[in-house]
Amino acid sequence: MIAYIEPYFLDNDADAGKHTDGVSDSLNLQGEILCGDDAADIAGKDFGGMNSVKPLAVVRPVGSEDIARVVKAALSSDKLTVAARGNGHSINGQAMTEGGLVVDMRSTAENHFEVGFLSGGGGGRGTAFVDVSGGALWENVLKRCVSEYGLAPRSWTDYLGLTVGGTLSNAGVSGQAFRYGPQTENVTELDVVTGKGDVVTCSEMENSELFFSVLGGLGQFGIITRARVLLQPAPDMVRWIRVVYAEFDEFTRDAEWLVSQKDESSFDYVEGFVFVNGDDPVNGWPTVPLHPDHDFDPARLPQSSGSVLYCLELALHYRNSDSNSTVDKRVERLIGRLRYEEGFRFEVDLPYVDFLLRVKRSEEIAKVTGTWETPHPWLNLFVSKRDIGDFDRTVFKELVKNGVGGPMLIYPLLRSRWDDRSSVVLPEGEIFYIVALLRFVPTCAKASSVEKMVAQNQEIVHWCVKNGIDFKLYLPHYKSREEWIRHFGNQWSRFVDRKAMFDPMAILSPGQKIFSRAL
Ligand code: FAD
Repeated sequence: MIAYIEPYFLDNDADAGKHTDGVSDSLNLQGEILCGDDAADIAGKDFGGMNSVKPLAVVRPVGSEDIARVVKAALSSDKLTVAARGNGHSINGQAMTEGGLVVDMRSTAENHFEVGFLSGGGGGRGTAFVDVSGGALWENVLKRCVSEYGLAPRSWTDYLGLTVGGTLSNAGVSGQAFRYGPQTENVTELDVVTGKGDVVTCSEMENSELFFSVLGGLGQFGIITRARVLLQPAPDMVRWIRVVYAEFDEFTRDAEWLVSQKDESSFDYVEGFVFVNGDDPVNGWPTVPLHPDHDFDPARLPQSSGSVLYCLELALHYRNSDSNSTVDKRVERLIGRLRYEEGFRFEVDLPYVDFLLRVKRSEEIAKVTGTWETPHPWLNLFVSKRDIGDFDRTVFKELVKNGVGGPMLIYPLLRSRWDDRSSVVLPEGEIFYIVALLRFVPTCAKASSVEKMVAQNQEIVHWCVKNGIDFKLYLPHYKSREEWIRHFGNQWSRFVDRKAMFDPMAILSPGQKIFSRAL
């Protein structure tokens, strides 16, 4: 069928946007198709802003059946690929396809929203869940769950303008992951359209190989159309705290102690970041206080402070009915054990939803200054506890000691919270750190400065490889097969087997550049 469609798209490239109804009819889709410039406008770029491609068409499906038809149409062609696009917040073209079909998952955002309870055993009501679309934005999932049910997902990303399917294809990590695992550990069932065009429901018990393949699977095995996300009662309020360290060892010791406490006896959120020991408004001291009234007084820093400082970021959930003194007591019991620099504790109380939407404020500011639209040469890694000290000495204290024009996150995670049946690969050892260099580029910057940032990212990765650092890229981006094989290590053959099982023609997510479309 697509043999007839493909030339049709191509012949009409000049008449972008026209005649697409006929194509839609021949594919028998309920949704719409956009071609030419209309398609490139939607799916030709991503948040990274460093790649640009021309898709053949963008399909706006109505649901799984439409998506299955698109996959089957690509299968019956001799070269077409299919890229699911969530909110296009990848950095390196992962949701793109040159000359292929993009499935814009946002058109399915409203397809599911149903709260239920897992059977609790013993007849009681079990854990609450919500069924949501793979194309839903986490921000909307949060708002609806809280306002309609007083419930909320347990594990988040820092920024919520991302789709459910997009983060589940990677992991989905934030300050709750030390307790609940990444978002991939907080779903119990998925509907997936495989690379064979089959529509399959999967879970740990049913079609489990597909379930675990898709979680963290970089879009390689299927397109997630529905996810069953575990919920917890939503707290009303959050106490959000930042404390500052001059010494990396003390920062890591406290962070590791906090994430190793038993459930419920630690903070509800533990993150951290590195900042420049100077008054730079984007990279330095001013990035730490949480409120305009807070004063960061550098005179109180120890003489021995180095080029960078470390900030532990914590949050404690509570209810409106909890008295101030109860909350204070819970905070003091934990924070009293920490060895941050005296005089460098900042805190505010804010509604839970506002806390989870805290990065939206940064998005609004970046949109005003223009840095939301400029390129984002970001680097995300997982580094084992064994090597994080070396990493700090070389990368933070030397290579990026002047900052990256945005946050430099670092916080510990526990491997035991990650199911090794999923497709995600991690460093060895129970404790590892997520490191994120979230570079923003001023609008006045020259193209060469973006190239320098990309080169510095490569330098960091090369340094890690050369020095035998136990690390994995998160949101990985490699161009050669050798690099992918090294990335997956002893999980490579499993990944390849899964590809053969669920997407044997390598139709899906070509932008990851792991497999080539089979002829
Ligand atoms: P896209 O970029 O559209 O797609 C990503 C990949 O998933 C592509 O390969 C695509 O083909 C595939 N895909 C998309 N939808 C589906 C689907 N339904 N089924 C199967 N495959 C699919 N990550 C974190 O873990 N924690 C954070 O705190 C965090 N913060 C971020 C903040 C910002 C401002 C940005 C830009 C990114 C952040 N990320 C974070 C990274 C983010 O999780 C990933 O980039 C994610 O892939 C983006 O989701 P998306 O919906 O835009 O996916």
